[in-house]
Amino acid sequence: MKDKSNPHSLTPPPLRNDCFAMPQGAHWTPVETALKHLRDQLTAISVTETAPIAGAAKRFLAQDVVALRSHPPTPNAAVDGYGFAGPAPEGPQQMPLVAGRAAAGQPYKGTVPKGQAIRILTGANLPKGVDTVVLQEDVNASETQIAFHGPLKRGANARNAGEDMKQGDVILPASHQLTSADLGTMAAVGISEVAVRKRLRVGILSTGDELRDPGTNADVGHIFDANRPMLCAVAAGWGYDVTDLGRAPDDRPKLRAMLDAAAKQCDVIISSGGASAGDEDHMSALLQDTGSFALWRIAMKPGRPLAMGLWNDTPVFGLPGNPVAAMVCALIFARPALRIMAGGDWQEPEGYLVPAAFTKSKKDGRREYLRARIENGHVQVFASEGSGRVSGLSWATGLVELDDPAQKVVPGDLVRFIPFGNFAL
Ligand code: AMP
Ligand code: MG
Repeated sequence: MKDKSNPHSLTPPPLRNDCFAMPQGAHWTPVETALKHLRDQLTAISVTETAPIAGAAKRFLAQDVVALRSHPPTPNAAVDGYGFAGPAPEGPQQMPLVAGRAAAGQPYKGTVPKGQAIRILTGANLPKGVDTVVLQEDVNASETQIAFHGPLKRGANARNAGEDMKQGDVILPASHQLTSADLGTMAAVGISEVAVRKRLRVGILSTGDELRDPGTNADVGHIFDANRPMLCAVAAGWGYDVTDLGRAPDDRPKLRAMLDAAAKQCDVIISSGGASAGDEDHMSALLQDTGSFALWRIAMKPGRPLAMGLWNDTPVFGLPGNPVAAMVCALIFARPALRIMAGGDWQEPEGYLVPAAFTKSKKDGRREYLRARIENGHVQVFASEGSGRVSGLSWATGLVELDDPAQKVVPGDLVRFIPFGNFAL
């Protein structure tokens, strides 16, 4: 149950009712402040379980992972060649060969006498008496002896036991999100299962009377729901267990019923649309009654207010409806927040300074994200900043982030480009 002293307790405590509360008013909150708030207030909500390493990619470690065995477990040959006791001095060398050989998985049981050599293949344990390997390509060999040119340092072409990882070392820290490489790293030290957080169950909901699904009839006044397939794929790419919650009409009782059902089957709900403070902003209106609601007015473009709150203890991220704003807000706010709730560490995306290929004047007091891509070593931005122009997200390979103060960008100025890959897209 609730055990705040132990971050790995099996059932983490629910989020506090005021976890999204931020000072309200006419004031626009800087992106930095909003991110700090999420970082400070959110905690892991996913329970811990043991899972086989196969299939554990993208899951978050609930505990440090410790090597069960050293890697490599024994000294072995890094190349195909001939093993002997090194070093070999400068100049021509000749050594008699012992009978037999050492191969990977087929160790040589005897001892190689000093001054003699043995045929050895990559990955083979170094037999007793061998600490150095001369590369096969550098050797003239007969059945009974070898000749090569020194010098060769002691330990050449050999791998030490534990030179990669030592038994008992922490090889991956708690909260780390497992990569495919990590599965190999863990397997190499004998780990077959790990303590991980259950995959965060993320529900994706669209709201709006105007929305229809592609493939169905759309009348005048209807548009196709672009956000749902996009956000479902984004959350799945982040490694979460995604539920498509469908579309909610602009109807409070119906939306309420959908949220009730969603809160039972999801750990987090991400909705788009209806998140502002207008007549048809039902998501905000409903969350308002929960006592946990906060309308986040972020000093950022694109993005209108975000509606944040808890619905029956389940956190809800109410993103703006415009597809570009929905995507950018998902990348900037939902991504780090979901990582924390899923049991991960706080992570902000890495960006790179790249010379601009564009001109732009920007206002003071807000951060801007522009759809961008690299062309001939320079970063170009999408022709329009319209937040409904979803095609610009397809055109782009990342975002340019322009910091809050006023600035004028001219071609050649260095700007911060964040590839979509750095948002794990
Ligand atoms: P809202 O935030 O509900 O006021 O919506 C803002 C704009 O985004 C409106 O033009 C909506 O029609 C549009 N919109 C809302 N949800 C979606 C969606 N799922 N797919 C495409 N456009 C949307
Ligand atoms: Mg709407």
